[in-house]
Amino acid sequence: MGFFDFFKKKEGPGKPKKEKEAAAAKKGAAAPKPAGDFSPEVYPFADLGELLPPEPKGGKINLAIYWAAGCGGCDVSILDTNERVLTIAQFANIVMWPIAVDGKEKDIEALPDGTGITVSIINGAIRNTENEHMVKLLRRKSAIVVSYGTCACFGGSPALANLVPGGKDEILDYVYTKTPTSKSFQAEYHKGKPQVPVTSYRAPEGVLTLPVLYDTVKTLDQVIDVDYYIPGCPPLQESISHLLKAVVDFVYNGVALPPKGTEIGVTAKCLCDECPRVKEYKPLTKIYEPYQVDVDPGKCLMDQGILCMGPATVGGCNARCTIVGQPCRGCYGPTQFVQEHGASALSAVASLFPVLDDDPTMDESKIAEIMMQVKDPLGYFYAFTLGKAQITRSVSEGRA
Ligand code: SF4
Ligand code: SF4
Ligand code: SF4
Repeated sequence: MGFFDFFKKKEGPGKPKKEKEAAAAKKGAAAPKPAGDFSPEVYPFADLGELLPPEPKGGKINLAIYWAAGCGGCDVSILDTNERVLTIAQFANIVMWPIAVDGKEKDIEALPDGTGITVSIINGAIRNTENEHMVKLLRRKSAIVVSYGTCACFGGSPALANLVPGGKDEILDYVYTKTPTSKSFQAEYHKGKPQVPVTSYRAPEGVLTLPVLYDTVKTLDQVIDVDYYIPGCPPLQESISHLLKAVVDFVYNGVALPPKGTEIGVTAKCLCDECPRVKEYKPLTKIYEPYQVDVDPGKCLMDQGILCMGPATVGGCNARCTIVGQPCRGCYGPTQFVQEHGASALSAVASLFPVLDDDPTMDESKIAEIMMQVKDPLGYFYAFTLGKAQITRSVSEGRA
């Protein structure tokens, strides 16, 4: 049974879309929202309780929420629906949600392939064998898979691990033996024989195993097929409300879903377009950290010398960082026309350098001098999207 067959089978008493549009036009009602446009302009911010009906005719949908390599913030963003989280339980059987529901892997295994789960919402990057195993299982059982949050969509901060040339061994060694706290712990408990976690251990009760870390952190869609994306670190809670409403509308009323691959909760423009700060495009001659500047509340942060990823980042978050005086770090990812987010941000910054063909004072060394003020350029410009970058990872010379 294919993806759409599943929904056809569960279609409720709702009228077909064309009939609905005609009826709406006859009544003089507003035309239905166009399928495929999931931007905040078309789907404004809304409360989950206002959006979602109680248990729909035809029974509840099956919903799985899973975290791979993330910080838990994406799960908390769903819990941010506050008491409305109970609304989710009114229309969905939550078959898995590690932070809130005791769903077991064997229960997921027992569900039918392809249709057992209506929608799986997966956050976090793919960092180890367990992450990969679970997302492949959820993909097999699900009609729709949603990549939720920046780590799942672009690798997020976990993918910065790809910049460590020695991969997982170097990271484990540093974390478990070199940091000040682990160093003193090792000295006290392992007496000159530092230990890092092993993935297999024979105990009297049997062999204990741990997931194996990968050298390279991957995005969700580098491991399984993904239907929709909701970027953000974490995404705005409204995005999930609209997604769940769309799924319910589709399953029970036959309202078309947006095209596969749609990014939910983003605009067609860059963040600068929704940022209320006034831009003057001043030349950039010195770079500051926000704490070094008495930030003017009305002016563009770049005009004040603070690097901001807004020109290269897609809109949709309502400029929630820049309105409180913090630069955008790019968590919503690039605009639809950009592949390489970090390079695009770097190019936006470079366009503000005071370089004029007839300016003899601005030579390469001066430009390098300005750029040297960015302490960690790769980490800054690819803070959230390294998993999707052309620079896939750092390697040590001679290492595969
Ligand atoms: S996207 Fe952000 S909030 Fe979500 S898991 Fe990753 S780091 Fe946490
Ligand atoms: S660069 Fe940043 S602060 Fe300036 S307008 Fe764009 S988003 Fe706002
Ligand atoms: S302003 Fe930038 S970093 Fe902040 S939430 Fe929006 S996209 Fe993310």
